[in-house]
This record gives sequence, structure tokens and C-alpha cells, in this order.
Amino acid sequence: MPNLNFAKVQMKESCGLFGIFGDVEAVQKAYFGLHSLQHRGQESAGIASSDGEFLQCYKGMGTVRRVFRSSSGIVEKLSNPIAIGHVRYSTTGGTKAANSQPFLAEYSGGQVAIAHNGNLTNASLIRDEFEAYGSIFKSTSDTEIIIHLLAKPTHVRKPDPLAHVLSHLQGAYCLLFLFADRIEAARDPYGIRPLAIGQTEKGSYVVASETCAFDAIGVRFVREVEPGEIVTLDKTGLSSRFFAQPGAVTPAHCIFEHVYFAKQNSTIFGENVHELRKKFGRRLAIEHPADADVVIPVPDSGTSAAIGYAEQSKIPFDMGMVRSHYIGRTFISPDQKLRELEVNLKLQVVNVVVGGKRVVVVDDSIVRGTTTKGKIRALRQAGAKEIHMRVSCPPIRFPCYYGVDFPTKEELLANNRTLPQIKEFLEVDSIGYMPLEGLLGCANLPADHYCTACWTGRYRIPVDTAGRKFALERYPMRTFDESE
Ligand code: SF4
Repeated sequence: MPNLNFAKVQMKESCGLFGIFGDVEAVQKAYFGLHSLQHRGQESAGIASSDGEFLQCYKGMGTVRRVFRSSSGIVEKLSNPIAIGHVRYSTTGGTKAANSQPFLAEYSGGQVAIAHNGNLTNASLIRDEFEAYGSIFKSTSDTEIIIHLLAKPTHVRKPDPLAHVLSHLQGAYCLLFLFADRIEAARDPYGIRPLAIGQTEKGSYVVASETCAFDAIGVRFVREVEPGEIVTLDKTGLSSRFFAQPGAVTPAHCIFEHVYFAKQNSTIFGENVHELRKKFGRRLAIEHPADADVVIPVPDSGTSAAIGYAEQSKIPFDMGMVRSHYIGRTFISPDQKLRELEVNLKLQVVNVVVGGKRVVVVDDSIVRGTTTKGKIRALRQAGAKEIHMRVSCPPIRFPCYYGVDFPTKEELLANNRTLPQIKEFLEVDSIGYMPLEGLLGCANLPADHYCTACWTGRYRIPVDTAGRKFALERYPMRTFDESE
């Protein structure tokens, strides 16, 4: 059997979820909620809804706006009082309609639509087992195996089939299941990705990856879905059960959500993202002070940390770069050349802020380093006298198998490079990364409640084999449809 694991055809599942039960404007709210979560994925978007008996689904490639504007009146056609939605993280290739979500399926238990944020580390092994018995898969997404697990006759007959299915999964997952009469929301026992519960003024319950989705539609934050919990939204309101014993494992919340991924106005893992990023910046100023005239952020995710750095260092804060918001995130773009072009378009230097100055540049993280290098060059061209790079997380040295799409280990700037080599590569006058203890010391929860694998290589949840991250991409098969 050919095993063609194309570097350009990767499985990437860091996404945004939204669900709402019992609201006459459920689909409209899902649409706006997904807009708020757009930073979590721009590759595809979709909404599935139920009228209480039957499910329908619409999805496509691109941003929420693009998908739902491309079909006139689709939000109205989908309009039902129960809905879930999904935005998917952009990939470096292999962008295909077959992997867009929610997945809608019919099995002996009825209809179900599934939306997933995270990455299953045992997906390949489970898929192998199903394929050995003749199952056919339509996508290369790890999420599809969950449908097969649900449909397995021995699982359907269990007293709580969903809880039973979840106990087979390994890795990072927040999942929304839309059945005809209810939504079930589940979070993995380690609580790697965030998932929050909210309530509308009229009492309808809502779930979303981040609370920023609530702000957009006037929903009150209630609480987070607990690790190992299944929350059911149905006509009786909200009920809860656990498929994994609470407290059986120490949580492993992804602290990179706080560093980069989540939106500043969200509250995740019990803390506001903006406030914690400012704390990171203050700590960074203590760890790595600089003699400089101005502190500038790499907007947007570096802005909060730069404010904190400026507050602590008493060096004036200013906007030395401005960002165009009309292009997607850069480290998720298709190839290096396009990424560089995007960076130039996306971040432009404000010459009067940096010209003739000693500049502290604060960024949240450095992944490949090539985009950072481009920004540094642009600052030099604008007349910056000195450039002191400060990064509000430690050097990223390992890939993430839990749902954030870092490039391969070899492509990471800090892989096998010393700090002096990184400084030389970036062409900066000094460089300072936040130490891991500093990062963890800023956060509210105990240090061992966070995943730090991309900095330490310590993977708390087993990965079936590290080299199999793209193992579901087995064939150079490509289909086209009208959405591509
Ligand atoms: Fe988050 Fe890094 Fe852990 Fe991935 S490896 S879950 S990005 S902390």
C-alpha cells in the first residue's frame, strides 16, 4: 500500500466551535458566533441545524463570510432552533472540502453532525482497525473516525454510547454533537482546548470555543465545560455527566492558547487572555530588560505583552507597525514565498515611530523565524537604530500533536539553534525569550496544569507515533468541487 505523506497535505485541526439550543435565531447567532471565532480557522466554515426531527448542514471552503455569502439566503434556509457551527484552521495544503465540518452522517442511531477542535493522537490506529474490516472513509480528517465509533453496533447498544465512544479517543478534543433533539458538548479529560458555556437573555444555552463568541451576541458566560465532562443542551435545559473520572488526571491546558491563539477579550482556563498577556510582558521586562527609546508590538497577538513590557520598563509604548486585517494569519499560509508576501502586505512599519530610535520589538512567539526576520529588516529600512527582540514565550523546539499547526521540527527556528545563532539569523541587536518558569509563574493555575510540550518535548498524552501526524493522508487523491 502506498504511504504518501505529503508535507503539503497535512491534517490540521485547530478550530473554533459554536453551538446553541432552543433559540429562534440559533443559526443567525451561530453565524455571528463563528465570525468572532474566525481567528481560530479560516480554511472552511459550516453550520448544521436541527428542527427537532431532521438535520441539515451547509459548509464550504474559506471564511465564514465567504462561505455564507456565496449562497444567497442560506442562513435563512438553515434556520432552525438548534445549531452547531465550525471554523477550521487553514492548512499548508490539502485544503479540501471533504475535511470541512460539521460532518453530517446517518447511522442506526439516527442523524448526527459533529464538529471538532483538537487533534486525536490515536486516530490513525483506530482508522486502521476500521479499514481492516472494510470501512470506507470519505475524508482525511481524524474527526471522521468518531462517526464510525458511534455507528459501531456494539457501541450503539451501550447504555451511554457517546460516553463509551469518547473513552476510545486519545488526544485533544472539544466536540459538539448535534442530534435531532439535542446538542452534546464534550471536552477531553486533560482539558487541552477551551470550551465555554453561556446563556442568552432568554435562557437558551450556548457553547463556544472562546467567550469572545458570547460577547458578539450578548450571551452571558456561565462556566467552562470541565475536562472529561459531557454537557447536554436539550429542552430541559442543561445537564452534565462525566465520561472520565473528574480529577483522575492532572489537566494539561494549552498555554499557547494564552500566548497566541485565543482572542484578547476571551476568558479561557479561568483567566482573561489580554490581562495574562500583559503579565507575560511585565515578567519579560524583568527577565530581559533593554536600554531603548520605544516598545513596539508585533500586532495583534504581541500587543498585550508589549503593553505589559512598556508598563514595567517605563519605556514608552507606541505602534511601530500597523496591521491589515484583510489577510489570514501568516504561519498558516500555503508556502514560504506567499507567506513573505503576506507579511509585507499585512504588517507595515510606521517610520516616524521607529526612525532613529532604539526599539524593543515584542512578539508573542517565533515559529519559523522567516516572517520575524522580514519584519526586522523592514524596521531597519525605516531607520531603527537598534532592535531588541523580546518574545513572550520560550523558544518553540517541538511540534504540537494536540491541535496547533506548527511546522515540522526541522522548520522551527529554535530547533538545533543556540540563542546567539537565533540572534544572528534574525539580525537583531539582542534577543530575550521568556523562560518557561516565568511563563508558568504568571498564570493562575499550578504549573503542572498546563501543556508545555512545544517547549519541552514532554508530551503528557501519548501520540501513537510522532511521525504519523499526517498518517491519514495516504494517497495523492484529490477531488474538486464548486467550492474550490
Ligand atoms: Fe499547546 Fe504547545 Fe501543548 Fe500544543 S504542544 S497543546 S501548542 S502547549
